[in-house]
Amino acid sequence: MSEKTLRLVPLGGLGEVGKNMMAIEYGDNILVVDTGIMFPENDMLGIDYIIPDFGYLKDKKNKVRGILITHGHEDHTGAIHHVLEEIPAPIYATALTRGLIEVKLQRGGLLKDARLNTVQAGDTVRLGPFKVEFFHVCHSIPDGVGLAIDSPAGLIVHSGDFKFDHTPVDGWPTDFGKLAELGQRGVLALLADSTNAERPGWTPSEAVIDPAFDDVFRAAPGRILIGTFASLISRIQQAARAAERHDRVLSLVGTSMVDNVRIARQLGYLELPEGRLVPLDEALKMKPEKVVLMCTGTQGEPSSILGRLATATNRQFDLLPSDTVVLSSHPIPGNEEMVHRTINRLLQQGAEVIYDALAPVHVSGHASQEEMKLLMQLIRPQHFVPIHGELRHLKQHAALARSIGIPAERTAIVENGTVLEFRDGRMQVGERIPGGYVFVDGRGVGDIGPAVMRERESLARDGFVLVNLRLNSKTGALVGEPEIHTRGFVFTPDADALFRSARQKVRELASGKENGLPERVERELGKLFYAETKRRPMVLVVTSNGA
Ligand SMILES: [Zn+2]
Ligand SMILES: [Zn+2]
Repeated sequence: MSEKTLRLVPLGGLGEVGKNMMAIEYGDNILVVDTGIMFPENDMLGIDYIIPDFGYLKDKKNKVRGILITHGHEDHTGAIHHVLEEIPAPIYATALTRGLIEVKLQRGGLLKDARLNTVQAGDTVRLGPFKVEFFHVCHSIPDGVGLAIDSPAGLIVHSGDFKFDHTPVDGWPTDFGKLAELGQRGVLALLADSTNAERPGWTPSEAVIDPAFDDVFRAAPGRILIGTFASLISRIQQAARAAERHDRVLSLVGTSMVDNVRIARQLGYLELPEGRLVPLDEALKMKPEKVVLMCTGTQGEPSSILGRLATATNRQFDLLPSDTVVLSSHPIPGNEEMVHRTINRLLQQGAEVIYDALAPVHVSGHASQEEMKLLMQLIRPQHFVPIHGELRHLKQHAALARSIGIPAERTAIVENGTVLEFRDGRMQVGERIPGGYVFVDGRGVGDIGPAVMRERESLARDGFVLVNLRLNSKTGALVGEPEIHTRGFVFTPDADALFRSARQKVRELASGKENGLPERVERELGKLFYAETKRRPMVLVVTSNGA
């Protein structure tokens, strides 16, 4: 690789929604932008979350000059302790983002060794050959930034997650002046958030939520439960202000909600007057019509507060028929089914449920098409790289770039692991490096592979059958009847005939002289069960000593 080549190495967030991470490399110097996680989809059974495969950086850890975090959402910060364990580079983040990262590092036991630096929008930091300027962008969490990264090969602009909201909750709009100024200076490449590339027009301002909340608050006969992400600080602020206007108290349910609100209040990013916020046990004793409960669990996660309320398995309190539940969020792609199921279950329990299809109780934190085009017009980049989105979002974002005159050959639609190289002002697609999933499962990181996932899928779908063969220790002959146990496959009383033929099959197999009886039983019973039931249960054969 030439000294003069600038390389963009996408490690996460390109070709998917979540686990955003990008390395920017020049000579022996690397910057890392964001270290996010992704939540598992329905079919990723038992997986807690997914982190980027950053194996590419492991033998280059001494070259990493800094880890830059654009904002405090999980899909940008959640893997920070995994990354820091391998790559102990200094971290640069704004005050709120830093506060939220500190909570994670504290839990991971890494806080005391971490080198954290607070930056503000407008600051410039020199890291090796890079000069990084942080500029303010609006999003659904305060204190988000985009990055202008100058290098000897040219200026790269990274949008972070952004929208152009003229009336944001915190009163701090995106820094248009700075974007125009960067455009004046000449930008080699723009990397921009593609999440809403399919959405025409403009994303509504967060301000539209206030009247929608007022309607809900006026009509609610009892408690109001607002479900949102614990990191959607702006929404928590709006709920707090609505509570104030309608003379209700606000209470937080769930540790992540409590932790995030504590940090945001401490740092002055959330106005919540004393007395307005009350502990949950106190709120539960108050008149229902005086209470707002902020809950997590807008994606239908069964272990979240709303998930547990929906299934009547929450410990501290149950849903009341007079409750009004507001889902102030939108399903992440892939979660729609679980969200709808949760809504139906909440309705079954008699609660009123209000969600974004019924009233504007949620707006996106991401730019729509017109805002995307405006960003490109302000930056006027020589090259364009859509980031943060599934392939369909990246494609659509590139089409928007073409519509405003950025030619296709200067646009790169690449997914994780495809390196882009810039040299002498020209872009080309470079090598492929690993850019897949690393599953985090309980305490294990990366030790769950596709084989285990396939087994879990098969167990979840078709259950298992356990066959115990008692074998004579000397002759290896089958002793007595094979025992068959099953879970999740067929209802046992109905299966008598099936298991009779299974036992018959085992006896036939055992009468042969060949070795490898357990393997043959496993294979042949698998076939038998499929032929009879059209299901493929996992067949486990164990042998014991039958004397
Ligand atoms: Zn975000
Ligand atoms: Zn994001």
